[in-house]
Amino acid sequence: MSVETVKAEVVVVGGGMVGLASAIALRDRGLDVLLCDPGEARARTSYGNAGVISRGSIFPMSSPALWAKLPSYLRNADRGLRLRHTHVARVLPWTAHFLASARTSAWERAAGSLLPLTSAALPAHLALAERAGAGHLLRRCGWIKLYRTHAAFAGAALERAILGRHGVSFEILDPDDIRAAEPALIRSYAQGMLLPETGAVSDPGGLLEAYQQLYLGLGGRTLRMVTTGLKPEAEGWCVRHDGGTVRARQVVLAAGAASGEIARGLGYRFAFAAERGYHAHYALHPESPPLTRPVLDTGAGSIIAPMGEGRVRVLSGVELNAREAPPDYVQIEAAAQEAGGTLRLGASLDNRPWMGARPSTPDGLPVIGPAPRHRGLIFAFGHGHIGLSTGPITGRLVADLATGAPPAVPVAPFAPQRLLGWPRWNPVQGRQRAD
Ligand SMILES: Cc1cc2nc3c(=O)[nH]c(=O)nc-3n(C[C@H](O)[C@H](O)[C@H](O)COP(=O)(O)OP(=O)(O)OC[C@H]3O[C@@H](n4cnc5c(N)ncnc54)[C@H](O)[C@@H]3O)c2cc1C
Repeated sequence: MSVETVKAEVVVVGGGMVGLASAIALRDRGLDVLLCDPGEARARTSYGNAGVISRGSIFPMSSPALWAKLPSYLRNADRGLRLRHTHVARVLPWTAHFLASARTSAWERAAGSLLPLTSAALPAHLALAERAGAGHLLRRCGWIKLYRTHAAFAGAALERAILGRHGVSFEILDPDDIRAAEPALIRSYAQGMLLPETGAVSDPGGLLEAYQQLYLGLGGRTLRMVTTGLKPEAEGWCVRHDGGTVRARQVVLAAGAASGEIARGLGYRFAFAAERGYHAHYALHPESPPLTRPVLDTGAGSIIAPMGEGRVRVLSGVELNAREAPPDYVQIEAAAQEAGGTLRLGASLDNRPWMGARPSTPDGLPVIGPAPRHRGLIFAFGHGHIGLSTGPITGRLVADLATGAPPAVPVAPFAPQRLLGWPRWNPVQGRQRAD
């Protein structure tokens, strides 16, 4: 069959965790699905993340602490965030929404909107992993946020209050508790917070591969290609790509950080950006005890996650820069140096660090919903820091939307409309709206 004649009921553009999980959920509903992706495993952000699936991951990066942190952000003096200043100006709608999202009320509301997604994340993954024969890649082990000073711990009081209000479990750890929980840590921390309702993936790329095999086993089809544009037609959609075209009744746009550009071709100008991130692998020193769960060192702005026996992945914070700009290894080098003071590290295991781009919305909520001006087009992107974990529940929502079923969790907060146009302060409701 020539590429030009390919047809499907639903085309999913993008084969990261969000697109792949959507394709599986659509197949589960009996639809004929074609998953379109360039096929480069390492090009997926879903490949290179920390593997944390936590019910407590409900806090957008734009927080009430933003205004206090802004001077150090602007000087690139904060370890968790590095800005390319010219780029920040280029993504001005994102920047404007990001600043508008820093209000306490907006932060709390966003946390409440994300909770149903993060609460469903681990059960959805456990079910998929079992079907895919990949249960060994996923462990319910909790993860720990570490604070180097009491002041830093006190600064996270609102976060703990919100978690408490939503019934998300956590345990406060003193230095002895931290040492007992993770004997591999050689740095002393003032306090820690263990979030037990958390799973960790020991090989995110391997998990994706297992889900891909599950999808193929369900009769799902794939096409290696780069989508160059979407065109509405009388009977559905024409998906243009580098090797021809595909026709489908419905299209799901789940191309991660590339989704904004593809949507722009249809006239949707989303407040959207890429938050780039890096990782590097190290062997643990042979005499070090194992690291048993991921840890976030809030003082370093970086995560260290165990990835298989005797191996850890060090992950950088956020770099706000163009998706396609050359890598800048400053943050990951600093994170690796800090990690060397946190654990007894052995050899570096990579030729050079991996880089990926989190698909970022300024309010920290994904975009999941029907396209406002086109029938048969579903947006599923913008999962920022939680796309590995919330991919499978998003997939279910996509299948609900595609088949007209009631959504498994409320989708109104994820409506695309909110990020089209500029934020506007509504003094009556104290809410922000999009024009
Ligand atoms: C350092 C770091 C740590 C992270 N840690 C975590 C974590 O612990 N837990 C968590 O839940 N999340 C984490 N994340 C975030 C998570 O990885 C992302 O939210 C998630 O991978 C996004 O999935 P996606 O499917 O939307 O995008 P991707 O995985 O990037 O997939 C998008 C796919 O679309 C394809 N594509 C792009 N353009 C086109 C085109 N034109 N045509 C066809 N296909 C196209 C790409 O090739 C890619 O395969 C982390 C991210 C980073 C960078």
